[in-house]
Amino acid sequence: MSEEWLIKGAAILGGAPSDIHLKDGVISRIGQDLDAPEATVLDAAGLIALPGLVDLHTHLREPGREDAETVETGTRAAALGGYTAVHAMANTEPVADTAGVVEQVWRLGEQAGYVDVRPVGAVTVGLLGKQLAELGAMADSAARVRVFSDDGFCVADALLMRRALEYVKALDGVIAQHAQEPRLTEGAQLNEGEVASRLGLAGWPAAAEEAIIARDCLLAAHVDAALHICHVSTAGSVEIIRWAKSKGWRVTAEVTPHHLLLTDDLAEDYDPRFKVNPPLRTHGDVAALREALQDGTIDCVATDHAPHPVEAKETEWAAAANGMTGLETALRVVQKAMVDTGLLDWAGVAMRMSARPAAIGRVSGHGHPLSEGAPANLTLYDAAAGETPVDPRTHASKSRNSPFAGMPLPGRVHATFLRGTATVLDGKVTR
Ligand SMILES: [Zn+2]
Repeated sequence: MSEEWLIKGAAILGGAPSDIHLKDGVISRIGQDLDAPEATVLDAAGLIALPGLVDLHTHLREPGREDAETVETGTRAAALGGYTAVHAMANTEPVADTAGVVEQVWRLGEQAGYVDVRPVGAVTVGLLGKQLAELGAMADSAARVRVFSDDGFCVADALLMRRALEYVKALDGVIAQHAQEPRLTEGAQLNEGEVASRLGLAGWPAAAEEAIIARDCLLAAHVDAALHICHVSTAGSVEIIRWAKSKGWRVTAEVTPHHLLLTDDLAEDYDPRFKVNPPLRTHGDVAALREALQDGTIDCVATDHAPHPVEAKETEWAAAANGMTGLETALRVVQKAMVDTGLLDWAGVAMRMSARPAAIGRVSGHGHPLSEGAPANLTLYDAAAGETPVDPRTHASKSRNSPFAGMPLPGRVHATFLRGTATVLDGKVTR
């Protein structure tokens, strides 16, 4: 049964207030002083309307690690963060390297109903980097996989990477690479630099990321295939991607909210909440990433939402798991890092958190401008809500490993609509 809504006075992309009428799953009308006698009215004065956010990089952990997250809890967290579609990474147990597993994840998403779940297929069998997985079967499955990634691991073998790029070209797909040269990062614990030396932790050189990005840009150009770079974290990576794009190569890139805001000196107290792969880098890297997101060198923001149970994170630094939750804080972090700093306006945010990721992930029905006839996927955001400290205990995610815990962040997601049905109202899930 479809809902009917009349949203009164929302500032579309931060512009002048308009009424938005949602009916039969689409935006039926946009205008001033609209009337809709059957509709439920939502007073949106002071709220910004954005197209529903799309995440290219979410770890939902199901099947296999339901102690950390399930499709249900992870997609609820996504809706609370303003998302209407997420890509579920393949490093589950079993790995999503067959049509059977990707269809299972896709169905769990449909059942939960909070956001559209687009499973990512593994590039190699078991993420082991030895043998290509059945990319065609996953593409042809009900899950219609278009993004393939061994994320968590790098496809380190250059010949295998070339073959994967050739293969997805025929499927209109993309390889999303976790760029990490494995030999250069053996035992690495933190960004290689001053802080790691002071703490006596094994360093993770920027060159280990940059070398793979450079190699893969060359390979993508050579076979004219689409390459997407996951979680870019260094200034040097930005320069390489800028160069590849200047050549007209089919290369796209993402940055995480945490790499736009946090730096490696947060590790000073050995608090494993700040342990992540790729690691937090320097202030110079953060500045370069922000500039690259502003000028389009980096196409989009992707959360790399990586939930972990308490025992995996609340342990000594060296033993702790890499990763941070992010779905419920992403838009607030982007406001702080990019909007409140004057680097992006709300149209720029919509481009980088909805339109571009939808295009890169080949997600139909998402990422459209808010216009009459478009699918009613949108979020209402209160950018003027003022800064409040993040409290992970209030999060819908099953895990609590937010690096922003206790940190004041601006803004609040007020409501989210998936095809005209409210998934979030007044900052709470509707069911
Ligand atoms: Zn990764």
